[in-house]
Amino acid sequence: MKHANISIFVPHKGCPNNCSFCNQKAISGQTEPATERDVFEAVNTAILHKCDPKNTEIAFFGGSFTAIEREQMVSLLTAAKCLLDKYGFEGIRVSTRPDFIDEEVLLTLKKYGVTSIELGAQSMNDEVLALNRRGHTSEDVRKASYLIKRHGFSLGLQMMTGLYGSDFEKDYFTAREIINLRPDTVRIYPTVVLKNTYLGSLFEEGRYLPPTAEETAPFAARLLTEFEKSGIRVIKIGLHSSESVERDMLAGAYHPAFRELCEGYVFLGEIEKKLKSKEKNREYTVFVPEKSLSKAKGLNKRNEKALKNQGYYCKIKGKDLLDGFEIEVEEER
Ligand code: SF4
Repeated sequence: MKHANISIFVPHKGCPNNCSFCNQKAISGQTEPATERDVFEAVNTAILHKCDPKNTEIAFFGGSFTAIEREQMVSLLTAAKCLLDKYGFEGIRVSTRPDFIDEEVLLTLKKYGVTSIELGAQSMNDEVLALNRRGHTSEDVRKASYLIKRHGFSLGLQMMTGLYGSDFEKDYFTAREIINLRPDTVRIYPTVVLKNTYLGSLFEEGRYLPPTAEETAPFAARLLTEFEKSGIRVIKIGLHSSESVERDMLAGAYHPAFRELCEGYVFLGEIEKKLKSKEKNREYTVFVPEKSLSKAKGLNKRNEKALKNQGYYCKIKGKDLLDGFEIEVEEER
């Protein structure tokens, strides 16, 4: 059964600063912070819609959960724990800043049934962190990751690409550093420039031009491959598509189906590897997992066209027995 989250947004709650890219209200589409009552409502709605508690986490996203005023953090957790015990949910997930993790807060989270902690690492380059006003260092990410794992929580790390002052080489370094921290999950967020943010003003003043979705997708595909090869699950690539993001975005790597775009590039790379030893100017049938057929063909069948330009005349077809990014190639006679 597929994993699900009951997402409760605490937009900008608890944040000591304004990161260059952050407009949590646009990202979450919500302007008021969540209350205990919102937790009960969100969970009861999910139960009414027959969610499977055993495969579902109650998740606090959007702000810096452990930086919220302690009394309010505990009241949200008390509500979540009560529902966790009542319905037998898989656990509670929170997202927070690396500089708001210490032994004491981890013990509190454990007491209220939190099982997964996600940290916004964003970059492991200190200059990029400073330019984007993150207010923490890469060492904070290392220390917090170590403590979270030592206390037995599942660790999630979030990284961004294309930030102000960064480039794909620095972003690749960030991915390698994250792999070294051995998180259980990763989210990759290519930068999307939103109105009413520092990046928004830099963009409007012509001082910053982030990579587009088309420029970022092949690179994000490479990161996806590296994380998966290292046994780290990539649970999200690209901002969640929403009306508020589409309304408030000025530039950057936004695509409503960004993950599919990236997976299309992963398939292209895998097919190219298989064809490398084969003769050009021949016809081939390339089999891919049935469920991934449209991704493997790429947007507007661009992968078949790209292969043709390299001299391989391929028809991409689905096959039930294949899984993941598995591929089989047969030469046409
Ligand atoms: S820490 Fe997170 S919520 Fe707070 S300003 Fe930065 S990105 Fe936004």
